[in-house]
Amino acid sequence: MILRIEHLGIAVKDCEQANKLFALLLGTNPYKSEMVESEKVNTSFFKVGESKVELLESTDPSGPIGKFIEKRGEGIHHVAFEVDNIHEMMKQLEASGFRLLSDEPKRGADNKLVCFLHPKSTNGVLVELCQEIR
Ligand code: ZN
Repeated sequence: MILRIEHLGIAVKDCEQANKLFALLLGTNPYKSEMVESEKVNTSFFKVGESKVELLESTDPSGPIGKFIEKRGEGIHHVAFEVDNIHEMMKQLEASGFRLLSDEPKRGADNKLVCFLHPKSTNGVLVELCQEIR
């Protein structure tokens, strides 16, 4: 079951500069910064009410965020939905015809198991499913 929009992922060229801008916009500092080696990104997280904003800066031009920015520039990269059971949700969505980008959930930033859906199967929107690691 999908519970809520957990966060919006925004691709930025310079996380430090974007941190300042988003702190000014949201009226709060990031509560966490974290490098995710497997995805070649630096991330930082802001709380916005019930949801969050995740800023993503590429650490390598060949990584997914590096390629995204080269192709489309900075901007909204993905929408993340929190789910109560990621394995069950992946099975269910695959059976409904959605394309998953991995067979198993991966360890993402912010203590989460994550899985992405191919944007070709979701009207051009990269969708992340995430579940808190308990
Ligand atoms: Zn995310």
